[in-house]
Amino acid sequence: MNQTVSFSYDRESESAFRRWWKGRSFIQQRTIRFCVSMLVMVLCFPLHEMGLFGTRPGPLNPAHLGQALGAMHVQEVHVVLFFIGLFIIALSWSWVYNLASLIAGGRLTCTSSVEGRPCGQRTWRQAGSGKAGLKATAYRCRSGHVTAEAHFHPVRKGRVSYTVAAISAACALIVLFS
Ligand SMILES: [Zn+2]
Repeated sequence: MNQTVSFSYDRESESAFRRWWKGRSFIQQRTIRFCVSMLVMVLCFPLHEMGLFGTRPGPLNPAHLGQALGAMHVQEVHVVLFFIGLFIIALSWSWVYNLASLIAGGRLTCTSSVEGRPCGQRTWRQAGSGKAGLKATAYRCRSGHVTAEAHFHPVRKGRVSYTVAAISAACALIVLFS
């Protein structure tokens, strides 16, 4: 039952970019990928010229960057703390987001059953309107169903979050042990 409910919601919340990407033909996808590669190259070229990859002398050469950071009194501790902070954010943003959504009444779907299947539409929390001191929570969906409970759909972390977390942890360790 839960599966049917989350199915309709997940489809709705599937990222607009993914839906757009799936709608492209094979040739279009190849062309877009090629253009993005070219764009990245064009963006990277001036960075390379400025020495970011360490192959040329320049303002962004890692050795020069290190000196500049040293002059700004940025110590290893700060760099390590920065990466540890990034690591924690990458791992915990979804909990914070889910908690905020839950409190604000977002990401909820209707639990009333329509012809034996859960309705599954987006539903909104109604202001409690009970008798003196009694606050009853109710949810109303697009079709007008009013229910006492709603199904909450938490956001799950994706590949990007785990990649950022792994890279931050690796950077923190590299700075710590170098
Ligand atoms: Zn409903």
